[in-house]
Amino acid sequence: MDTSVGPTAEVDSKQSLAFNTLTFENRLRQPSEFAEIAVEIRRDIIRSLVRAGSGHSGGPLGSSDIFAVLYFGGIMRYNPSDMHWNGRDRFVLSAGHMAPVLYSTLANAGCFPKEELGTLRKFGTRLQGHPGRDMHLPGIETSSGSLGQGISIAVGMAISDKLIDRNDHCVFTLTGDGELQEGSVWEAAMAASNFKLDNFCWLIDNNDCQIDGRVPDVMNVYPIAEKCTAFGFDTFVADGHDYADIMRAFDRFRENHVNKVGKPTAIVFRTYMGHGVSYMNDKFEWHGKPPTKDQAIAALEELAGNE
Ligand SMILES: [Mg+2]
Repeated sequence: MDTSVGPTAEVDSKQSLAFNTLTFENRLRQPSEFAEIAVEIRRDIIRSLVRAGSGHSGGPLGSSDIFAVLYFGGIMRYNPSDMHWNGRDRFVLSAGHMAPVLYSTLANAGCFPKEELGTLRKFGTRLQGHPGRDMHLPGIETSSGSLGQGISIAVGMAISDKLIDRNDHCVFTLTGDGELQEGSVWEAAMAASNFKLDNFCWLIDNNDCQIDGRVPDVMNVYPIAEKCTAFGFDTFVADGHDYADIMRAFDRFRENHVNKVGKPTAIVFRTYMGHGVSYMNDKFEWHGKPPTKDQAIAALEELAGNE
């Protein structure tokens, strides 16, 4: 009996620690079409982290649904075969430690071979533990990881696009919620509002966790949405694991941009750290560690049942 094809082989490949060549197009989709993509992003996060033996699991897994919609739902404009295309929108991962989700997303978009994900954190790799622009990985717009600085760079990009080059490019940035404790975040927010950056979309991964515990137990940042509004943002709160809700939030940003409302947009995504892998779900202890091989296999088995 040939066991190399058919459902059994398919399940095995989904649970395998090996990378595949599957990629996805960036196009308008129905909400039901994103689960398959988000699961593939999560699988590749697990596969890369278990090889690295270090790195961040919780934030990347928890934000995978947001990345699936942003990069594969026709929201971001980019060309996977030319990530320097001048007409592209920009994305800056201000929470640079969440690099595995960005790398996995870019590889699943076809920006570079998926097997390169297996070099995460290795000596000389383009996939450093935090994104490095000088590594020349397609899709990395800037180095990031010093928290609070990525959003400031992104605001600078948006100022350049809107006020200097006067093009229609959009700039997206994602910060964590623990990152909101950095004062420079709010300087950037103040500037985005001051310069009426309706081409700027600030995504906040509000999983209520950071490396040392629950966010309010370390330094309270709430109420987040009210703060963003007070800083002049058009602010939405969305369920970061509900594809229809994520799409609605991005649609509102796109309306703001097209209609030139003269305000930046903030989207507070309510998420769970480690979402998709039950033993990590909502546990801050998974902020900064990788799964063991047995844990990775268990995670892949669970994800195989969640498409
Ligand atoms: Mg957090």
